[in-house]
Amino acid sequence: MFRPNENFNILPPNYLFSEVARRVADFRSQNPGAGIIRMDIGDVSLPLPQAAVSAMRKAVGEMAYAATFRGYGPEQGYEFLRRAICDNDYKGRGLDHISPDDIFISDGAKSDLGNIGDLFGSGLTIAVCNPGYPVYVDANVIDGNAGILRDGRWSRLVSLECPAESDFKPTLPTQDVDVIYLCFPCNPTGVALSVTEIQEWVDYALAHDSLIIFDSAYEAYVSEPGIARSIYEAEGAEKCAIEIRSFSKTAGFTGLRCGYTVVPAALRFAFSNGETASLRNMWNRRQSTKFNGVGYPVQRAAEALFSPEGQAEIRHNVSCYLENARILRDTLESLGFETTGGINSPYVWFRDMNGKGSWELFDLLLHECHLSSTPGVGFGSAGEGCIRFTGFNSRKNTLRTAERLKEKLL
Ligand SMILES: *Cc1c(COP(=O)(O)O)cnc(C)c1O
Repeated sequence: MFRPNENFNILPPNYLFSEVARRVADFRSQNPGAGIIRMDIGDVSLPLPQAAVSAMRKAVGEMAYAATFRGYGPEQGYEFLRRAICDNDYKGRGLDHISPDDIFISDGAKSDLGNIGDLFGSGLTIAVCNPGYPVYVDANVIDGNAGILRDGRWSRLVSLECPAESDFKPTLPTQDVDVIYLCFPCNPTGVALSVTEIQEWVDYALAHDSLIIFDSAYEAYVSEPGIARSIYEAEGAEKCAIEIRSFSKTAGFTGLRCGYTVVPAALRFAFSNGETASLRNMWNRRQSTKFNGVGYPVQRAAEALFSPEGQAEIRHNVSCYLENARILRDTLESLGFETTGGINSPYVWFRDMNGKGSWELFDLLLHECHLSSTPGVGFGSAGEGCIRFTGFNSRKNTLRTAERLKEKLL
């Protein structure tokens, strides 16, 4: 008799996005003339860089002829792309200890974040930031690592609280944890950590034999000196950290799908019989078993992002989004909101100083300004009272948002 995975039965529904959609739809039906601006989107709006489009067209052309056709590629990704990533994102930034063999191409960061738990032993203590990207918790619930939900808390997860009082930054756990998920620059708060701050987490992981899963989907937005783009900028991180990256927010690949995960050769733990567990070998085995690689044209498109033209286009797009974020941040600050993000991140996170709840603020923004936003509490209880605005909308809509905020809330 088939029995379903009971963990799906304890996984709460994805209430946040459906509730936002419901409230927006309700408001729209009562106010048909209102032009609502979507400041809640987590998707990019600028088109693919031309360098990627040209490379993909050429690759599709190759696929049309028997002499240049490509079928199954290597499960880890083509060498040309792994080398381009290594040369540019690691060696090119002084991180010589990462090699192309440590890099695994995937169809995006979300898949890898969801799948990485295949490497975890049972009964581990897993720590996640609150607020945080919901995938870390939900994937661990599905895998049976989270325990049960009691008063809004998962009994077997450690919540790394990131409250406003500590600038939405996590503090080191006071108990032993085995796995730590970190995402900086952070979605949703936009907070970024310096290399010195990241080093504290690496030192903790090295001292406790724990594994860090570092989500750096937003590394391209780092614009201040001293802020970490890669966890491997911290000393010893290759012995305790897996880094997961994506071309989605960097190069508009949200619809094309390509990312990569770095599992350094130095990442070694012990199996229960004392044999060495190389996480790189394990991930290679896992991917070769459950994954058959990313499309050849997509990998050629990703490779082209590292050409001088591709790099210039990425820089242009990222600076457009950062300028949007700056406009939002400055406007909100001038209206008396406390903000974070918007400097090394496309997201601006803010709270009302009079103690309004996230949904109360959401409704105010929707009803008064006709703006849709993302309630911070949807990313965890420590996000209560906060709102996330996106810098991914068009400049025109960003400027209209700033006008509406000043007009209605000043
Ligand atoms: C968007 C996002 C991802 C997902 O990226 P994909 O490569 O499109 O799957 C991962 N992590 C964070 C924090 C994100 O915001």
